Order: sequence, then C-alpha cells, then structure tokens
Amino acid sequence: EVPDSAVIRRKGTVDLSYIEFKYPDVGVDLSFFRELLPSEKKSLAVQLELSYGIVKDYLTPENFFVFNLSPQAEEFLKTFFKPKVPFRIRESIEGYSNVIVLDPNAEEEFTHEEVDGNTLIVVGGIVDSSERLKGSTGKILKEFKHRKITYKGIVSIVPDRINEIVKIILDYLTSPDELCEVVRRNL
Ligand code: SAM
Repeated sequence: EVPDSAVIRRKGTVDLSYIEFKYPDVGVDLSFFRELLPSEKKSLAVQLELSYGIVKDYLTPENFFVFNLSPQAEEFLKTFFKPKVPFRIRESIEGYSNVIVLDPNAEEEFTHEEVDGNTLIVVGGIVDSSERLKGSTGKILKEFKHRKITYKGIVSIVPDRINEIVKIILDYLTSPDELCEVVRRNL
C-alpha cells in the first residue's frame, strides 16, 4: 500500500494511476492584518496574489484561500483587487483532520511525512519589515502543530516572504528532494 504522503510526492517513482489524487490546501491566516503598516498591507496583497499563482501552478486554484479576516481586512482586499478578489476568502478552517502552521520559531522541522490529502498548511499573513512582529506566528492557531523551515538547521537563511515560503513548501512536497536542497535552489 502506498502511504498517503506519497500521493503528492515522488510522482515519478510510484505508479499512482490507480489512486485518486489528493492535495493539501494552503491557507493564509490574516488575523494580524490590523498590526500591519499601510505599505505592509499593500505588500501583503501582492504576496497573496503571487502565492495564489504558485498554488495554481503546483496544485489547483481551489487549494488556496485566506481566512481569519476582519471586516477591515476583507474591505482592503476587495478594494485592492477590484473588481474581484481572485482567491477564496473562507470563514473558518473546519473540516481538516490535520493542520500545520508554518512558523520560523517552531521547535520542529516541517516534513512531508506529516502531510496527507486532508492537510491544511497555514502561512501567517504577516509582513513585518525588520521583524517588528517577531514571534507573532507563534500566536496563530496555537492548538495545532507548528513547524519551521530551515537550511541545515538555520532559520535566518530561509527567505520569509509569504510567496517564497509557499513556493518552497510546494516544490518540496512535489519533488523527491530533501528540504535543505529545495531551500537552496529557491534562494
Ligand atoms: N516575524 C514573523 C514571526 O517571527 O513570526 C514572521 C513573518 S514571515 C514574514 C510571514 C510568514 O511566513 C510567517 O508567519 C510564517 O508562516 C512563514 N515563514 C517565514 N519564514 C518561515 C520559516 N523559516 N519557517 C516556517 N515558516 C516561515
């Protein structure tokens, strides 16, 4: 039997033609929106659009959404993306059996072995030049597991823009390479 994590990984090495394809979802938590400066809010919107494009390339458009929006955050996105916000806005993240929050301050490293077709991978919608909001991802969805991405154990080398993190994760999940190799080629 092929383990669930192999469904999206190592496509080339396992015959998956008889398995229904199941992808994880990528959700960006916008609960820190009100803490961002006006220029950071604009940068956030650009990073969300880029992240949506990356998820569309690797998975499908339905695999990306934003959640935990205040009315102000929703209004901002609707104005920024007039006439229509390109990606989904969700009220809640109910329905996932597995949630992984990507967090540079987490204790443990992210690994594909924890990802299956009913996984939500959460990225913090935090754009904080000069790490003004350092440690804030740790306050997002505390009840779920938090995992970090490092390059050979070093967090500071890893690019931290939301779209760069999404790219690294999806590149990693769809290739047979180790995380450090994937980080290296995305530097
Ligand atoms: N200063 C924030 C903190 O210390 O929590 C990080 C903000 S970072 C610009 C935006 C988001 O990208 C984070 O909330 C997190 O989800 C993700 N991220 C950035 N670097 C990461 C890393 N090395 N490992 C895991 N997630 C990372």
